[in-house]
Amino acid sequence: MAGEQRTILMVEDEAGLRNAVRLYLEMEGYRVITAVNGEEGLERVRQDLPDVILLDVMLPGIDGFETLRRLRRFSAAPVLMITAKGDENDVVKGLRLGADDYVRKPFGQAELASRIQAVLRRTSAAATEDDTAIVVDDYLTLDFVRHEVYAGGEKVQFRPTEYRLLYHLATNPGRVQTYEQLLAKVWGPEYRDEDNYVRLYITYLRKKIEPDPAHPRYILTERGLGYRFMDYRRK
Ligand code: CA
Repeated sequence: MAGEQRTILMVEDEAGLRNAVRLYLEMEGYRVITAVNGEEGLERVRQDLPDVILLDVMLPGIDGFETLRRLRRFSAAPVLMITAKGDENDVVKGLRLGADDYVRKPFGQAELASRIQAVLRRTSAAATEDDTAIVVDDYLTLDFVRHEVYAGGEKVQFRPTEYRLLYHLATNPGRVQTYEQLLAKVWGPEYRDEDNYVRLYITYLRKKIEPDPAHPRYILTERGLGYRFMDYRRK
């Protein structure tokens, strides 16, 4: 890990706290990027692929919980929630939504640094276990932590929607995902009736990851229902 600079994203609307944390973490050797609200935070995650995300609960617009919920649709990056006061409900809710840990305001800089180090240690330990890089078969490898997919030895480039769709299919292997579920998870609940979006993006995905897109082996059609990703756990 020596010599490898880690990137931390801090999503926090309070400029004073944001700048103080940034200065401190930069002195500790991290690269720090910031966002002032949830939407901007999600955009930064997509573009900068941070190693750790510090996510404040109280944000203008979508709050930290909703930001986390949306984040987990496409990213497994570790998240430290920053919660106010002593609100146990916030802590429980954050962890249930997929946060890795939390710090309570007001927090000391040393406490924050040690939480970040702990999360990085846990995730780099987990990365050596094979559930993070999913080797489907000789042809296809999915690594949702590194955000990398290889098909036939070539790294595949995806648009964000394609990637999210693949993520939802592949992390539910062997289970039928209905049009409605995929639309709600990948596009948002307001797209409930747009089955044609799903069909179109499935076509794009098959062209990118299937050796023979006309005869798919990974993304299988369940007629009238939706799609099912091959169950790579049963071999
Ligand atoms: Ca705040």
